[in-house]
Amino acid sequence: MTTNRWLPFLLVLVSIAPAALRAEGLNADEQKLVAYVDAHHADFVAELEKAVNIDSATENLAGVKQMGAVFSADFAALGFNSRFVELPASTQRAGHLIADRVGPKGKRLLLLGHLDTVLHGGNWRRDGDTAHGAGTNDMKGGDLVIIHALRALHSIGALEGTSITVIMTGDEEAPGHPVAISRRDMVVAAQHSDLALSFETAIGQTGTIARRGIVSWTLDVQGATGHSSGIFSAAVGSGSVFEAARILTGFHGQLSKIDGVTLNPAMIVGGTQAGFDGNAGTASGKTNIIAQHTVAKGDLRYLSAEQRAQAQSAMQAIVAQHLPRTSAVLTFAEDSFPAMAPTPANYALLAQLDQASRDLGFGAVTAFDPKARGAGDISFISPPLPGLDGLGIHGGGAHAPTETADLATAPELVKRTALLIYRLTR
Ligand SMILES: [Zn+2]
Repeated sequence: MTTNRWLPFLLVLVSIAPAALRAEGLNADEQKLVAYVDAHHADFVAELEKAVNIDSATENLAGVKQMGAVFSADFAALGFNSRFVELPASTQRAGHLIADRVGPKGKRLLLLGHLDTVLHGGNWRRDGDTAHGAGTNDMKGGDLVIIHALRALHSIGALEGTSITVIMTGDEEAPGHPVAISRRDMVVAAQHSDLALSFETAIGQTGTIARRGIVSWTLDVQGATGHSSGIFSAAVGSGSVFEAARILTGFHGQLSKIDGVTLNPAMIVGGTQAGFDGNAGTASGKTNIIAQHTVAKGDLRYLSAEQRAQAQSAMQAIVAQHLPRTSAVLTFAEDSFPAMAPTPANYALLAQLDQASRDLGFGAVTAFDPKARGAGDISFISPPLPGLDGLGIHGGGAHAPTETADLATAPELVKRTALLIYRLTR
């Protein structure tokens, strides 16, 4: 998942940065990595075309497995123990590609990609340095950044002795339920890793050190019914619509003061009878009858588990104060995306990426605004692991038919990742 609303501004900043910067501060091995990536850019483009032409929408289980088989062979060729691990049929998800190798050198890395796309794919088109099609940047391009960086390292023997686990999930865009099952392999891999790098779409010259968590909520409000003429009296009561309005206005007032938290009431229905069937709501009533039942649904987004708890208790306190003859119950969904909190360890990883980028002559890398990035797989394991996301390729239009990837900057991003992994695993 990606959010690219800052992208136009960042692209302007990148395009006016000084050109023709030279790679300094690289040792002989590191210079070989750079040369390898430059020599294999055509392969990168050809492999991206092949990948995008496989339709691996989340619900196309056969397509996700086919995508997994293609990338699995790439990891096997680099000496990884590579396999596709299926999820139970009850999750209605294909499963994940897991590739790993174990050795004594350096940090133990967990690299994250995903095989699935939101929209159906199989629609590659190239227009100069712009690649079009589902998954070009989100995130088959990012998956290939992993593969090509590891190939560059393999070409100089730098994978020998390293501990690296790659997980490419088959359901990042719509995780199978319950997540305790669909993310179990990732959580187990994290227990044997020191840090996580994730290859969702790169946004300008930034790294993602935080992603907000998401939990959905339902507000169910009951009121006494009666003739509309009595609504301002304590005896008849205020009705469910006014009570829902009071609660939602309270949410806006309280939660908008917590920096990093947003709350979106997405849908609401109220009347004599009201309710939801999935994402479709219905309501009926008469203008001269006080509304008995109102239901609202939405999401809550937060930067940390502590912030989520703070927001939820503030919401429950607002719900607990009732207008006359009304009652309300606020429930939160059991499955949710945890937050990737902006920890000092994440900033330290970003500093290492920044150094690698500068040493390559590609300029500084700064932290992307945590509030502007949607949820992602890395949040399931960071925390506890230090993590960095947004290491994939540049592009736009994720989750839309207009999705593109920028092929011209792909070599820079592969080099940056190869150098970062090289330094982390010495
Ligand atoms: Zn994605």
